[in-house]
Amino acid sequence: MHAEDILLVPARILNEYVYCPRLAYLEWVQGEFRENVDVVEGKLEHRRVDEERGELPTPEEADPERPVAARSVLLSSDRLGIIARIDLIEGEGNRVSPVDYKRGRAPDLPEGAWEADRVQVCAQALLLRENGYRCDEGVVYYCESRRRVAVPVTEELTTRCLAVAEEVRRMAREGTIPPPLVNSPKCIRCSLAPICLPDEVSLLRGAVGEEDVRRIFPARDDAAPLYLQTQGLSVGIRGERVEIREGGSLMRDARLLDISQVSLFGNIQITTQAVRAFLDRGIPVCYFSMGGWFQGWSQGLVHKNVELRRLQYARAADPEARLALARRFVAGKIRNSRTLLRRNHAGDPAAALAELARLAEAAEKAANLETLLGLEGAAARTYFAHFGELLQGGDPGCRTFDFNGRSRRPPTDPVNAVLSFLYSVLAKELTVTTMTVGFDPLMGFYHQPRYGRPALALDLMEEFRPLIAESTVLTLINRKEIGSSDFLRRGNAWALTENGRKAVLRAYERRMDDLVTHPRFGYQVSYRRVLEVQARLLGRVLTGEIPEYVAFETR
Ligand code: SF4
Repeated sequence: MHAEDILLVPARILNEYVYCPRLAYLEWVQGEFRENVDVVEGKLEHRRVDEERGELPTPEEADPERPVAARSVLLSSDRLGIIARIDLIEGEGNRVSPVDYKRGRAPDLPEGAWEADRVQVCAQALLLRENGYRCDEGVVYYCESRRRVAVPVTEELTTRCLAVAEEVRRMAREGTIPPPLVNSPKCIRCSLAPICLPDEVSLLRGAVGEEDVRRIFPARDDAAPLYLQTQGLSVGIRGERVEIREGGSLMRDARLLDISQVSLFGNIQITTQAVRAFLDRGIPVCYFSMGGWFQGWSQGLVHKNVELRRLQYARAADPEARLALARRFVAGKIRNSRTLLRRNHAGDPAAALAELARLAEAAEKAANLETLLGLEGAAARTYFAHFGELLQGGDPGCRTFDFNGRSRRPPTDPVNAVLSFLYSVLAKELTVTTMTVGFDPLMGFYHQPRYGRPALALDLMEEFRPLIAESTVLTLINRKEIGSSDFLRRGNAWALTENGRKAVLRAYERRMDDLVTHPRFGYQVSYRRVLEVQARLLGRVLTGEIPEYVAFETR
């Protein structure tokens, strides 16, 4: 954070700090923001007061007889080191009061207002005084109770307000995130709970037991990804709706609100207005080749959490620290491969299971990245040697889904074509997730940075390959959701047709929406949410809040 920015603490952040110091850190230092119902309702209630209306005369020009009512006024003071946008300033002449609008009900307290609200409105009153006005009290207006609560600017409240401002500046200067509240009911209403992960972090720090972990965010996302792959489609925007057209005719439309990300395959046109609308709302647009190769993405302004990216680069430059993370990614992948084989194999591949268990153990202790690569390769050979035995579907009498090991560029059979496509889609998913969390997706710990390769997304993807991609292949083939007509052959290379890709994406999205019991936290959550939780926990490892990365391993 820039020194000048640190000087001026927003009065809103003083409120957050009193509520929870970690919340103030996440919002002000790390630039985190997330909408929940409370935030959206708060914004709606604020719409009227957020418009700059009414005049605020200078203290010298103010007519003592004339009422003052000025909305959304920005004031600051270098001496106090505070800045605030005041919802309403009312009074007469130069004797005025700040009014702060709060959604929700007035508390049943002798003071009539929450301490956090009193501190915030006191800061606003002090700013008015600093700017030459006379101000003896502020007002907090609780919209739900429709109650005005007068807050006298006492010496005691002023001292508390200035002390909080100093604590906030110290917290930002030191750059250490405060620990989460433990078992606090405040977290349940906190919009940043899915980012903060208070109970999860407390568990991994050893501050609480497994029974104390609550899932205080929705198990699934309400918004869904939009995939478009019919060549020649165009994407435009009308108001708050996305319109998809073919040759000028409207094929489909959807509310922006219901879209979490957009994936475009091949030659799909998109208007500048649509790209801007997606960027404004933080909806990433991902671009794939016609064949499903993930080529890149558009995003809005880079996430404000510079601190996280600085720590990411430092960790990537430290060979020991990189290795510690890489071991976890690879061991997680091997264990999850083993679980998939154990659960789905009709026979008894005991030797392969024992070998995979041994390789996972060895990966946890690998002396360097080269050894780890060797162990990963050996595990993949063992696992894929048996993967074909898990496939029971296919067209009768047809050998479409015979599988003799992994082949990449190009895939030399239909199963490999589906695997490659799914890995590409999953890499896109984790690229978007790591960006959302504030990472640079191109800088990895296990995968080496290479031009355009989302190395960090590939790192985090390791433990999820069996759980999401390979598990989706089993569903598609064993439930006969895909057949030989869904593939094209060109020489030795196999690829999915457009219909084939549609079938794969449908099965993939179902898998991402599946609820799974988190092995460490015990709650049910969708795979898509699990990806974000893992990425956020990786971030907490980098900030030193939790000692080590714990891979997501199913039992
Ligand atoms: S979830 Fe709880 S600990 Fe985390 S920022 Fe919000 S109130 Fe603070």
